[in-house]
Amino acid sequence: MYYPYNLTVVKPKMNKWKIFIIVLIVIVIILLSIYGGIKYAQYMNKQKYEEELQKQQEQLEEQKRIEEEKEAKRLKNAKPLTEEQMAKIENIYSSEEKRVFLTFDDGPTTSVTPLILDLLKQENIKATFFVLGNRAKANPDLIKREFEEGHYIANHGYTHKYSSIYSNSQTVLDEYNYTEGCIQEALQNPDYHSRVFRFPGGSTRRLLQEYKE
Ligand SMILES: [Zn+2]
Repeated sequence: MYYPYNLTVVKPKMNKWKIFIIVLIVIVIILLSIYGGIKYAQYMNKQKYEEELQKQQEQLEEQKRIEEEKEAKRLKNAKPLTEEQMAKIENIYSSEEKRVFLTFDDGPTTSVTPLILDLLKQENIKATFFVLGNRAKANPDLIKREFEEGHYIANHGYTHKYSSIYSNSQTVLDEYNYTEGCIQEALQNPDYHSRVFRFPGGSTRRLLQEYKE
């Protein structure tokens, strides 16, 4: 092949500095994208976390509201005795009419309570049962039977263990309240309130005045 002219291909010479700057820019862009990606992921995570936290807080508030409503209802139902009722109790020992009040403690148990109930039914006698919360829980049918046969269900605490119930005045109250709940559950009646409490072991010897208040 013959070329009339002597042609030479002139390649544009890339300046080394230019290449360096281009590479640098590319690296910076890549780093910036990675950094941006990480920040975005962190932001999304934070958002998600905050949403979760808010949800949890809302749930807690809802629970608190329900608890408060329950407590308000409980207090509303736990009306104190009327003056007439109080007078009747106070005058119980001095009333003209002589009466015997039959009370049973510490039940109900499957071995004894049914026999007592049979006998009371047979003799047409009504009695008061001071029940223990833990036994009421174990034998709800007996609590129901006592109630349905016209007897009175009253509160004798939950454990009957002096070391537990008499730890302090609050534990007495706690046992009382918890046992009220057990009776209500057994009777399937959340509005039932015994209003009468018998101190395990008796109220005179082992108790400080504060428990009675
Ligand atoms: Zn007892």
